[in-house]
Amino acid sequence: MNNSEIELLVRQILEGMQGGENKSSASGGAIPEKARVAMLVEKGRFEIQEHKIPEVGDDDILVKVEGCGVCGTDAHEFKNDPFNLIPVVLGHEGTGEIVKMGKNVLKDSAGKPLKVGDKVVTCMIFGDEPEITMYDLNKQNVGKADVYGLLPDDDVKFNGWFADYILIRKGSSVFNVSDLDLDSRILIEPCAVLVHAVERAKTTGILRFNSRVVVQGLGPIGLICVAVLRTLGIENIVAVDGNEKRLEFAKRMGANYTVDFRNYKGAEALGQAVYDVLGGHYADFGFQCTGNPVAHANIYKMIRRGGGLCELGFFINGGDATINPHFDLCQKEITLVGSWVYTLRDYATTFDFLKRAQAIGLPIKELITHKFPLEEINEALKTNLSMQGLKIAVVNK
Ligand SMILES: [Zn+2]
Repeated sequence: MNNSEIELLVRQILEGMQGGENKSSASGGAIPEKARVAMLVEKGRFEIQEHKIPEVGDDDILVKVEGCGVCGTDAHEFKNDPFNLIPVVLGHEGTGEIVKMGKNVLKDSAGKPLKVGDKVVTCMIFGDEPEITMYDLNKQNVGKADVYGLLPDDDVKFNGWFADYILIRKGSSVFNVSDLDLDSRILIEPCAVLVHAVERAKTTGILRFNSRVVVQGLGPIGLICVAVLRTLGIENIVAVDGNEKRLEFAKRMGANYTVDFRNYKGAEALGQAVYDVLGGHYADFGFQCTGNPVAHANIYKMIRRGGGLCELGFFINGGDATINPHFDLCQKEITLVGSWVYTLRDYATTFDFLKRAQAIGLPIKELITHKFPLEEINEALKTNLSMQGLKIAVVNK
């Protein structure tokens, strides 16, 4: 028997002596009878509602929400209800503290012990298969997958992270991330998207220690991409965007060179600009992080013959792109990979990425540019839709 198993056993015995689950929050304060959720009741409007906190079953975890990032998915659902979920409590990039848990809950999805007072996150990918992807989930129907923040409304009510509490049920993937601060925990989900993209890129065999890499599109995803590459030890990074502030930020995240696309007319000129800043070389590898079809077509001109490309910008359908298969793909022998969301294994890797990025001084947490309290959630979503700032978060204190 190892130490953690002994600890678990002792805890179970102690809990038995105290009469089981009725423990209150480690940070003090009893669990109220009712609490708030932000219910999306129609397109473009959340309503703050009070509901009774549900019973915590033997396999459930009740979490007091500390904060949750606003994702592009939330913004799409808020604006147009494309997933047909209204009424719904959104928010899947959330984190908080365990205030109560059922007697069957012992460990998180990575095998770490869980106790009241621990800080946790959930993951959109459920279950025991570490390599399962969003693509597999879609085939199985996302609704069954316990994707908190995208669950249809039911009697539980506390189904998403835009709330005071969330009820995490059996079968969900949940991770103990008590060793990360609140801002880092809010950024786990978008960072996992990049850890996955880099893993996909590595399968080409082209991305190496001394590779010259171009990252196109410097929204939060592109900026995190630069940081992930930097923590991997890649030190020849060109960042491409049309926004001065973002180009500056990319440098602080680890880009050596920047190219402002507004200064160049046409794909060839842009490719030449990348070639020039790299001292007379095209990039060995490209990461395409915008949802713009023209940007997809442009990036081929920045990559050398025999190079590689990871396309991850089209998280949703952004339309058709026009490339010339002869010049862009065949003749150059480009190896192309697509990337979408992440696997459970990438999620766990992301916790280490965040610690490493902080240790080498990358300003990851500055990605969160706006924080709103729950009662101002409509403002938070509108801020996201107006493309102001980078990462918008709803924070409960
Ligand atoms: Zn998301």
